[in-house]
Amino acid sequence: MNEAADMRGGEKMDIGSKADGGKTAQGGTMNNAGAGAGAGGRAADSALPGPIRLARGAADEAAVYLIEAGFGTALFVADGTTAEVIGRRLAERYGAAGGRAGLEIIRPNAAGDVVADEASVLQAIIAAQRHGADVLVAAGSGTIHDIVRYAAYTLGVPFVSVPTAPSVDGFTSKGAPLILRGEKITLPASAPVALFADLDVLLEAPRPLIAAGFGDMLGKYTSLFDWMYGRETAGEPYDEEVAAVTRGALERCAAHAEAIGRGSEEGVRVLMQSLIESGIAMLRFGQSHPASGAEHHISHYWEMHFLRTGRRQVLHGAKVGVACAVIADLYKRRVAEGFPLPEACRVMLAELPDGAELRRLLRVAGGPADPAELGIGPELLDEALRRAHTVRPNRHTLLRALNAALDGDARADTNR
Ligand SMILES: [Zn+2]
Repeated sequence: MNEAADMRGGEKMDIGSKADGGKTAQGGTMNNAGAGAGAGGRAADSALPGPIRLARGAADEAAVYLIEAGFGTALFVADGTTAEVIGRRLAERYGAAGGRAGLEIIRPNAAGDVVADEASVLQAIIAAQRHGADVLVAAGSGTIHDIVRYAAYTLGVPFVSVPTAPSVDGFTSKGAPLILRGEKITLPASAPVALFADLDVLLEAPRPLIAAGFGDMLGKYTSLFDWMYGRETAGEPYDEEVAAVTRGALERCAAHAEAIGRGSEEGVRVLMQSLIESGIAMLRFGQSHPASGAEHHISHYWEMHFLRTGRRQVLHGAKVGVACAVIADLYKRRVAEGFPLPEACRVMLAELPDGAELRRLLRVAGGPADPAELGIGPELLDEALRRAHTVRPNRHTLLRALNAALDGDARADTNR
């Protein structure tokens, strides 16, 4: 396994526990800002108490890790698909190695989607209580992770991440985006204590999930811009090293768009490594600024609209990638029309690929590129562009500033 990208952690404990009082959340109050990305080290060094592994066969290492870490009863949580991909096998391996294992399959909602809502979270909590689990294992994609991270946090037990697709950068997040009574909220939760990303499993992931992971990474173009804009115009907290790690991951990913689109081993490995690095950068910074700007707010706005209207969900990263191209065009156009920008942002905007280039990259990676391909018409697109900043009203994105200016113009017109 010498091709393994071993990003093994070590000495730093408790990032994934409740040792910080559970006050930090992705986008919530922050109490470990400026943790930085480590002195010259990789972003992922020492980020979790246990190992971060990306290699062929890594899932089987998870069972060994659970035994060696001294856990007795592990509950493996999956959806119907990922249970067959890896969940059942993992539970059996763990049982064969002497552990007590349970497998819980989260049921889909009425629309047929497995969503991270109160019903799913409670299903996981009740199963963990019934089994007397002292550790949870998320064997699935982003949604399963969000369900498990909140269940584990609530139960006060650790959880281990076994992603089944390179589809999001949030595997190591300590904030859980949940749907409560149909509204999306992000609650404090736990980061995993260890992560085992098995290339054998990831290479078999459905192509749309791989393309969605690429879309989530491509979104960093505009999230990094918005982060700089927030720093320059509102003094939002900023960390040069975290920004550099996120940018490095983004650029490596963009350079491998074609390999990712082919689903080659190199492409999938680069994508997953980028997603892990972006996630760890966010975890270290303590808030989602590095990886979530206006493109994510647009994506959340669409997601809530889909929930309200009972439509099938669209993959998070697919929405983010499409929104990133829309935002890049909007920003470039409004600034060309004269909207003022601080100098540092002006330089960054000039270097930002335009919407056409971003759409080309999305297509090369095999994903959707236009809102219409997501079933989003011009009306919902315009509404999101005007309203999405209200999803995160305290984030000083350029989109928020543009809308504030438009609102000011509208008020001036009515007062005239
Ligand atoms: Zn994302």
